[in-house]
Amino acid sequence: MITFNIITLFPSLFEPFIHNPPLSKAISKRIIEVNLIQLRDFSIDRRGTIDGRPYGGGIGMILRVEPVYDALESIHGSLEKALRLADTSIIALSPSGKKFTQQKAMELSKKRNITLICGRYEGMDQRIKDHMVTDVISIGDYILSGGELPSLVIMESISRLLPGVLEKRKAVEIESFADGDCVLEYPQYTRPKSFKRMDVPSVLLSGDHEKIKKWREAEQDY
Ligand code: SAM
Repeated sequence: MITFNIITLFPSLFEPFIHNPPLSKAISKRIIEVNLIQLRDFSIDRRGTIDGRPYGGGIGMILRVEPVYDALESIHGSLEKALRLADTSIIALSPSGKKFTQQKAMELSKKRNITLICGRYEGMDQRIKDHMVTDVISIGDYILSGGELPSLVIMESISRLLPGVLEKRKAVEIESFADGDCVLEYPQYTRPKSFKRMDVPSVLLSGDHEKIKKWREAEQDY
């Protein structure tokens, strides 16, 4: 079982996803477990402060180091120890992180404990990324308002790789990127054979499996 711990200011954003497949299925079969941790519970004062102005000036606020550290210690006991465990990954979500790939999803699917830190506002104190995590991950070259969507992307892509989550496990093996980072799936069609003069390639209707296999290989993008 993989335990996902998600540190966020907006735990309710995760609800629709954990209550629908494939995550709901993975949770009910005890293949994964999802713990939502409200960062505000670790605020530095009674007013619930978790952010601060960046030294040197800047437009917005950034997440402070102490609430994130305390949240991590509450999850892992000792953060220092957790950072050394081979079966544990602690991930900060950031547009400046390493680009997430299917290969990374496969690597993470072998872990037992994955903690995701969702940034907000203008990001987070650099010390979090430098000293409190095993990975800094970006899901692409664009800016979102928080790390919640990136966390969901990562959690779902890992979960669907785990045995018992997808009904047709074979799908995981033949999907785009399954063989490496750059092999894409071939085009697929279903009924009707023709729709408004848009036709299904005749080779797929031929029943010749060898020919179909060759056509698919030729059509795959690299
Ligand atoms: N000021 C930051 C910058 O220019 O890189 C952007 C901060 S963004 C508005 C707030 C948070 O959303 C980030 O700390 C991160 O956790 C998350 N985020 C936004 N885009 C992301 C992406 N492409 N990949 C991963 N996380 C992202």
